[in-house]
Amino acid sequence: MSMRSLKTRERLSEVRYEIRGELARRARELEAQGRTLVKLNIGNPGAFGFRAPEHLQRAIADGIAHTDPYTHQQGLPAAREAIAEFHRRRGTPNASPERVFVGNGVSELIDLSLRALLNPGDEVLLPSPDYPLWSAATILNDGRPVYYRCLPENGFLPDPEEIAKLVSPRTRAIVLINPNNPTGASYPRELLERIVAIAAKHHLLLMSDEIYDEILYDDATFQPLAPLAGDLPCLSFGGLSKVHRACGWRVGWAVLSGDPLASGDFHHAMDLLGALRLCANVPGQFAIEQALHGVDTIRALTSPGGRLHDTRQALIESCDASEHLSLVAPQGALYGFPAVVGDAAEGFDDHAFALEMLEAEDVLVVPGSSFNVPFRNHFRVTLLPEAPMLREVFARIERVLARRAET
Ligand code: PLP
Repeated sequence: MSMRSLKTRERLSEVRYEIRGELARRARELEAQGRTLVKLNIGNPGAFGFRAPEHLQRAIADGIAHTDPYTHQQGLPAAREAIAEFHRRRGTPNASPERVFVGNGVSELIDLSLRALLNPGDEVLLPSPDYPLWSAATILNDGRPVYYRCLPENGFLPDPEEIAKLVSPRTRAIVLINPNNPTGASYPRELLERIVAIAAKHHLLLMSDEIYDEILYDDATFQPLAPLAGDLPCLSFGGLSKVHRACGWRVGWAVLSGDPLASGDFHHAMDLLGALRLCANVPGQFAIEQALHGVDTIRALTSPGGRLHDTRQALIESCDASEHLSLVAPQGALYGFPAVVGDAAEGFDDHAFALEMLEAEDVLVVPGSSFNVPFRNHFRVTLLPEAPMLREVFARIERVLARRAET
């Protein structure tokens, strides 16, 4: 009997997640051969020696001693109350524990919320560049990503006029990532107000991925979307992975705000989908209250003298010193997204460049086109290594680009 192989979901062919894709696989092969690599592909603070604050570790240790049952599908009541209270302090309208959904990271909630929202062929307005899970989850929930551009010449900010033109009768939601991964842009209030007006006019769900909300540099500020959205349905995402350096705990949340009448059955849909997966990882949830009411520990890292601040300075200075690179300095989040310019940019292919960086220079970067952009001359690095290491990485990048510019 001939062996038939399994077929998989066809739409998977449209999905890419190159942050952990082919290049990362090749990196593991090289490491198995004994090579020491600098892997700048994942925004994973723990992999660079950052630790979650001790008081959060203790909260988990204390909590785990008392409980091991499943919890409510939307999360532990005390954790949800802390998240709602955090949002009320920000001015989010109608933020109550009943409208908080705790998940296994924001990742799970992105998928779950799009599954709750979309019917086949529905469109979701996504930023380009995007964090590629947003595209993947839209596609795998039978939706269609429609991209609004965030161009470097505009500081990677979107143009609300373009967003308005992209709205069609099939559009269901506008997704914002603020502060942005991969660009580091932080969106000003007036811009957000204009986007809210578009959502209001066309009855769209606002989905604001704010997982980097407190990771800000220099005098950058963060404007949460929900307080501006007022009565409109708005889903705001946050979590412990980045601000609290606890990626591996898998703790994220989504807060539904606005007039409950306007969100219709959406709350029920989220609750049902949450119930089908029983509940999110419980131990991680014990840290939420402490994280949101306790001391701010991220600012010491992003302020002058702090490690993230210094690495960002190294990024800015390295790009400034290079004739081959141009950078929009990140205002927030954990990444640099430089462009290759000038002679080195001629015939430049970001994948070929990333592969050469890996094979010849032992550095893993992510090609810019992995973030669903129409251009191919960018790459992304994380700001998680210490500053001297990032300077060394840019010395190697310079070597490769100088070679390319000569040929
Ligand atoms: N959203 C953005 C913009 C991210 O960059 C990431 C992770 O890098 C996530 C969501 C997922 O985070 P979590 O660890 O909470 O699943």
